Amino acid sequence: MNLRNLLGLALPPVCAGCGSPLVSSEGMLCLGCLASLDRLAAGSVDARSLRERIAHRTPLISTVYSWLQYTHENLTGTLIRHGKYDDRPDIFEYLGAKMAAEIKAIRVFDSVDLLIPVPMHRWKRLSRGYNQARILADKISRATGIQVADCLRMTRRQTSQTHRSATERHAAARGLFLLTDKTLVTGRHVALIDDIITSGATISAAAAPILDAAPASLTIISLAATVKQ
Ligand SMILES: [Zn+2]
Repeated sequence: MNLRNLLGLALPPVCAGCGSPLVSSEGMLCLGCLASLDRLAAGSVDARSLRERIAHRTPLISTVYSWLQYTHENLTGTLIRHGKYDDRPDIFEYLGAKMAAEIKAIRVFDSVDLLIPVPMHRWKRLSRGYNQARILADKISRATGIQVADCLRMTRRQTSQTHRSATERHAAARGLFLLTDKTLVTGRHVALIDDIITSGATISAAAAPILDAAPASLTIISLAATVKQ
């Protein structure tokens, strides 16, 4: 538990975006910050460019949907960094529930049979204490009733991607994931869930063993994505 959580026991809750006091109905963000999140409209130019980034390497993916635009400077970027590096699983719980409620309305989950979160390497999972993709999948499951299966495994640790080109990232990510139970996937409509898509290398690598197991179709859903490389 970090200092903020300890203090939170005594202090009134404040918005994780702007720091203003929250009223009890607001949750983690005030209504102003919640409304200001940069949503990626389905079918927009940005959403299509995201789809093309992944589909040109992995054409069997039927749908790619990201809820928010990620930049280093915007509120989404700040929240995701806090969520990953400051022991704040509650940020992903909050955003996962909001995402599920909003995108259910545009029928992203229609006909999906199974939610598979992108796993982390087990050492990283142990040191962080949670996998944010699993938290998001659980929140989607709660909103939709679709089952979650933790049936992907990361075979090795991912090295830093920061200074690599998209092509180098895709090459480095090849063979990064294993599917532990093919019978869950074959003939079913699977949705692969992750927190953020940048080059698309990690999500494409995670999709590869699922596609090898012949699902009926594969949808990609992420909390956020960068819109340009
Ligand atoms: Zn706020």
